[in-house]
Amino acid sequence: MTDGARRWYPLLGPLPAAQGLTPKVAKAAKRRGPIDPLAGPKLALAGRVVTMDDAWTVKPDAVLFIEQGTIVAVQDRRQPPPPGFETVPVVETGGTLFPGLIELHNHLSYNALPLWSPVPKLFQHRGQWPDHPDYRKLISGPMTVVGTYRDARGKAALLAPLVRYVECKCLLGGVTTTQGIMLSSNAGVQRYYRGIVRNVEQTDDPALSEAQGRIADVDAKGATSFLARLKKEDSCYLLHLSEGITKPGQLDSIARKHFRALEVAPNQWALNDRFTGIHAAGLLPEDFGVLAQHGGSIVWSPLSNLLLYGDTARVDAAKQAGVRISLGSDWSPSGSKNLLGELKVAWLYSQHKLNGLFSAREVVAMATREAAKILKWHEALGTLETGKRADLLVIADQEGDPYDALIRAKETAISLVMINGVARYGLPRLMKSFVTTGETVRVGGQTRRLFLQQETGDPDVAPVSLRTASSTLKRAFRDLPRLARELEKPKPKKSARRTLDAPEPVVWSLALDEIQATGVDQRPRLPFNGPRDFTGPKRVSSRAAAVPLSQLLQPIALDPLTVADDANFLLEIATQPNMPEPIRTGLAELY
Ligand SMILES: [Zn+2]
Repeated sequence: MTDGARRWYPLLGPLPAAQGLTPKVAKAAKRRGPIDPLAGPKLALAGRVVTMDDAWTVKPDAVLFIEQGTIVAVQDRRQPPPPGFETVPVVETGGTLFPGLIELHNHLSYNALPLWSPVPKLFQHRGQWPDHPDYRKLISGPMTVVGTYRDARGKAALLAPLVRYVECKCLLGGVTTTQGIMLSSNAGVQRYYRGIVRNVEQTDDPALSEAQGRIADVDAKGATSFLARLKKEDSCYLLHLSEGITKPGQLDSIARKHFRALEVAPNQWALNDRFTGIHAAGLLPEDFGVLAQHGGSIVWSPLSNLLLYGDTARVDAAKQAGVRISLGSDWSPSGSKNLLGELKVAWLYSQHKLNGLFSAREVVAMATREAAKILKWHEALGTLETGKRADLLVIADQEGDPYDALIRAKETAISLVMINGVARYGLPRLMKSFVTTGETVRVGGQTRRLFLQQETGDPDVAPVSLRTASSTLKRAFRDLPRLARELEKPKPKKSARRTLDAPEPVVWSLALDEIQATGVDQRPRLPFNGPRDFTGPKRVSSRAAAVPLSQLLQPIALDPLTVADDANFLLEIATQPNMPEPIRTGLAELY
């Protein structure tokens, strides 16, 4: 990153004096303002509007008025426009408008990787698959190379293309909010990449309190400090919880121990309304009662759970207990390419495994209104109502049940994605109404436009087009063994003169917290039944020293951006051994 970039990034780690970074700098970073300046022009979009408000209001023929990135009014077309909008041209979307999709769990950094196909065995819990030989070969090895590669000038040359690629992958699936990409520097500083898509952890916006996706290692292990951290948080803690399965009658599965360990004294739980458990697949029905009592919520990732463990969270029990449920596609090695895909899996699971317990609109709410409530962003996002931020997506369909239409929508049906009132992706016809520049992209054989300019954007990513990002990553994935060899070469010693004259330039790498020790954890690790039954040491590449990556890695394919452009995705899902039958074969019908 350039100095200019460093000046305004929120710095999560200690500020090294050698880099000239002072706490004052960190404060300036906080004043950078929201994702895009709330200064956009007056806009008017017509179509069927699905507000996702608490009354499930759908306006069949309405106009949504936007000013400065905020919704000014949503009203029937026959009504006169609000004051000041009399001369604003109404853009006919010809489709149905929904709030933008809010994803509460995704390891975005891993989303250039293809699906793990087939998942080689049925796993019981998360501690098992990092030790499978495939994992290093297909997931952690390639990501280590991509995340730490330096070109001849010492630049982290694959980082900006990766960030560009995975963010566009979100946009093409209608995702307007997701988890951020964490970077760490050679100076021991950690920060989030500031992107086009809203990050839950970094909003720089007082109306959108920042969620935490990570907890210091020390807090993750101690009951008292863990609870103290939870109480301190304004928004929410998104933490992995009970990733794995608990068979009926099996009271203390490894996965469930992670939850049971949160009972830090009899009837005293390290849980509150800030706590959001990601996966929660190992919880028994009574556990959801406990979670509900404390106001906790969950992020459901059905596809990833089904692929790895053959089962998923008992969301029927969660619903019955009154636990709020949101969605996350987890990561591309075992999850959907985007949240639109995860909506389909969630709905299929409900239809085939839970007798249709969740209606289509309830599933859509998990990715909009409910997610915003979990983040405590509901005053500003999650619905299309006056006063809310203009994060929205439009699908081409205007007939029939709109919620059902969204669940059945192909990626090619997405005709517009807007974040903070800025049109980011869509049909050329619609994009032309909002922006004059942009990049053309082909989705499922159709032409779409992307607009990636961002006043507050990251200067390293700004010049990288999606096209360049794709070709750079494709080449890197093909050359993985060679890049690994370069990384393994001993580094030349720096001259003493350089060390004296100037500080070493800051170089960022991906903070791959599923692979390396980063000083923070994504899950609580409290002891269960005393210190002897600790719920697991942090696993960081136990096979790291086994074989050099240059000998292990083979070329891999860059994961296509959409299902529409991936000839293999649905076939690979259909042959996944752990997937229950109706979902294994049913997904293709929804694309
Ligand atoms: Zn995860």
